Amino acid sequence: MLSFENTEIAFKIRSNKDLNRAYLLFKMISSNSLVYLGKKLSNAALKLHLPVDWAVKPTIYSHFVGGVTIDECRKNVRSLEKFGVKAILDYSVEGTESEEGINKAMEETLQTIHNAAQDRNVPFTVFKPTAFTKEIVLEKVSAGKELTREEKQEADNFRARVGKLCQTAFDNNVPILIDAEDTYFQNFIDEVVNANMEKFNKKSAIVFNTYQMYRWDRLEVLEKAYNRAVEKGYYLGAKFVRGAYMERERARAAAMGYKDPIQPDKDSTDRDYNAALKFCIEHIDRISIFNGTHNEYSSLYMTELMEKHNIPKNDPRCWFSQLYGMSDHISFNLAHAGYNVAKYVPFGPVRSVLPYLIRRTEENTSIAGQTSRELNLIIKERERRKAAR
Ligand SMILES: Cc1cc2nc3c(=O)[nH]c(=O)nc-3n(C[C@H](O)[C@H](O)[C@H](O)COP(=O)(O)OP(=O)(O)OC[C@H]3O[C@@H](n4cnc5c(N)ncnc54)[C@H](O)[C@@H]3O)c2cc1C
Repeated sequence: MLSFENTEIAFKIRSNKDLNRAYLLFKMISSNSLVYLGKKLSNAALKLHLPVDWAVKPTIYSHFVGGVTIDECRKNVRSLEKFGVKAILDYSVEGTESEEGINKAMEETLQTIHNAAQDRNVPFTVFKPTAFTKEIVLEKVSAGKELTREEKQEADNFRARVGKLCQTAFDNNVPILIDAEDTYFQNFIDEVVNANMEKFNKKSAIVFNTYQMYRWDRLEVLEKAYNRAVEKGYYLGAKFVRGAYMERERARAAAMGYKDPIQPDKDSTDRDYNAALKFCIEHIDRISIFNGTHNEYSSLYMTELMEKHNIPKNDPRCWFSQLYGMSDHISFNLAHAGYNVAKYVPFGPVRSVLPYLIRRTEENTSIAGQTSRELNLIIKERERRKAAR
């Protein structure tokens, strides 16, 4: 019987020193006021071009980020490998719209594909669509708005860039995950990703779209995508997440007066998330599943579905994934039991990954005075080690 309670397996990768460091870190970020202050200070430091590396790099950065470059991540990839956990290197620089920023993201992402092709412990590559064009273009095309001549050109450039990444992934036989971001960019992204799936997924799922199940319309969109794949004769690559941008989605919908694209409550999100997993397992002959979650039930549920349908634990069409530095109790226990598990390992310069780090700290602050799940697990393992001495 699979359990995520085993902290010995979950934290075997961490020495006592590492565990103590993680304890202090999660203790610090469990405080709402400290996280709020940290966010303000880092935003100010960024604006004023003050150095932040000295404070961030040895602490929060080294816990949640693999390194500045692909090379720097290698040591961490090898450590994960010892425990049967794979790694997906994710160039996590956000919010650059300049030609220079886009070219840099292109170069780094292409490099991650070549790296994955050579490293048996890196089974996928990934990118964020907003790294490859201007947000205004994603937004206007998604809303069906008229584009200027320059914007039309920029939309074509986006199509070409995504096409090049998918082609390179296909040529190197490295499946490629395309992250989902704000809902008002997604129609255009879906269009481009579906076209690339049709082109490159004829023999197996190489290109994966992301379905954010906190959207009330995604189950239907998933079913349509499946029907399209059947009709056109290709495999569907489906990555699932609940979705990371709920507050700003709700705020935008309220401010602009359109229907909130997010589910009315958490139960509805959970219901659709698990229904999507069920749908995919029932259609596994046509779909590859990437289950990106820190939710214990959704992870366990997929193992149960796999067992029910006699799908081997290490079936190459079924993947589980958590973020580096989070939910190791799920990743390492699943890998120990023989499932395919890959950690998302972000990399990039300290200043550029700060927005990613701020999201991670906000996720781990304590809710209503409770100790966060991560901190509880670390405490449990520290006590187990003390007792075992
Ligand atoms: C490997 C991996 C890849 C990821 N890639 C992406 C990505 O491409 N795009 C993206 O957006 N996110 C991505 N995420 C982040 C993911 O969306 C968050 O991890 C997720 O928000 C946390 O949900 P959970 O499934 O871990 O579980 P839980 O902690 O059980 O769920 C929390 C989530 O439930 C939803 N929720 C909470 N309250 C409500 C409510 N009142 N009403 C409706 N819904 C609610 C929200 O989505 C919230 O984040 C990724 C995560 C992982 C692990």
